[in-house]
Amino acid sequence: MKHDITIVGGGVIGLSIAYYLKKKAPDLDIAVYEAKYIGYGASTRNGSHIRVHFWSEPNVVFAIKSRKMMLSLAKETGWNPTPYIGGYLWLIYDEDTYQAYKHTNRDIWSKYGVAVEFLDPEEVIERYPYLNPGKLITGVLGVQDGKIHHDFVTYAYAYKFKNMGGKIYEYTPINSIVLEEGRIRGVDIGGKIIESEKVIVAAGAWSKSLMESIGITLPLTPSRKELSVLEPVNFFIKPLIIDMRPSSRGLYVCQTPRGEVMGSVDYPEVQGVYEFNNTIKYLSTYARAVIRLIPALKYLRVLRIWSGDYNVSADHSHIMGRDDEWPDGLYVATGYSGHGFMMAPYTGLLMSEYIIEDKIHPDMEPFLPTRFKEGRLVKEMMVIG
Ligand SMILES: Cc1cc2nc3c(=O)[nH]c(=O)nc-3n(C[C@H](O)[C@H](O)[C@H](O)COP(=O)(O)OP(=O)(O)OC[C@H]3O[C@@H](n4cnc5c(N)ncnc54)[C@H](O)[C@@H]3O)c2cc1C
Repeated sequence: MKHDITIVGGGVIGLSIAYYLKKKAPDLDIAVYEAKYIGYGASTRNGSHIRVHFWSEPNVVFAIKSRKMMLSLAKETGWNPTPYIGGYLWLIYDEDTYQAYKHTNRDIWSKYGVAVEFLDPEEVIERYPYLNPGKLITGVLGVQDGKIHHDFVTYAYAYKFKNMGGKIYEYTPINSIVLEEGRIRGVDIGGKIIESEKVIVAAGAWSKSLMESIGITLPLTPSRKELSVLEPVNFFIKPLIIDMRPSSRGLYVCQTPRGEVMGSVDYPEVQGVYEFNNTIKYLSTYARAVIRLIPALKYLRVLRIWSGDYNVSADHSHIMGRDDEWPDGLYVATGYSGHGFMMAPYTGLLMSEYIIEDKIHPDMEPFLPTRFKEGRLVKEMMVIG
């Protein structure tokens, strides 16, 4: 067996790349290999939020274009991922953070039409009477942000890719990337070499070890996060609410379209790739923080709890493309640091242009892997959870 292009990982990133590649080059033999099943990794374990509010300009630009593509996915794929634009509400408790939001609004967001409303504490209580926000300085409301169903997006790409003649192999882990004379020869699957002109590593939290096995170190640290839903109630939490008090440990909370209250805290910190376990430490910390913010939630029982990995890069921005010092034919799209679902459509489009047409789009350029050795970091401080 031989492919023109092999993609390692059947998450939303690998599948988006596969879909746009096949659309651009229908005659190429393109295969996605997935160690478990489609969406096994972070792609079906995430909060399904999309936003355009980032601290760094390249991420703002990238997110705006990806959001636009997300919102037209129903037309593109025929699968309706049920977008809901309810906004993000950041609750801010210290002057420095408040000023940082003001400066980012003035210097970056206003330039790109990224809307933001600064609400004083009384307005916050008036609009969201179920909140007990404590000594708040301001609420920052980003009205263009929202949710879109992650399973629909992931499966829509898989379905469309297959329908166009793309190949997906589930439960088929790639053991290693095979090199020959400074270029890609293919991949090793179960001891057998499958030849391939090009290999794209989109293996989420597993990308780091796969790349290390051929001597390439990417500055990535997988970090396990836990998330839970409480039993469903009538819809009342309109935006995604982020409580910025350090004692709330990164609390965010929202409601799913079914009415389940979904949220998380950034605790306990577990770095590295481990089993998708859950901890009582997470549950008790989350319960305390979320009940402090929305006291009525103390009457709800926990319905479900799960975990998944943020694949955190050194500057909290994704890594896409290749380094010319790498073996010819090798590419990556990884390190999405907790916001990869929302970046998937534009990643797929730009990676397909790069791989087929050898064109580095200016929006992609800041995210090349070479930025780390060149000291051109895209420092992204707005990571949620
Ligand atoms: C709790 C949580 C909440 C999040 N919330 C959001 C959010 O609200 N919005 C947002 O934009 N992002 C969010 N994210 C981040 C987002 O989920 C990820 O950035 C995104 O899913 C990354 O997609 P991926 O395809 O790179 O990785 P993954 O979905 O992890 O896919 C990688 C795949 O590669 C496979 N694989 C690994 N090794 C191999 C191998 N050797 N051979 C074959 N296959 C292999 C794995 O089985 C896996 O299926 C969240 C993440 C978590 C964990």
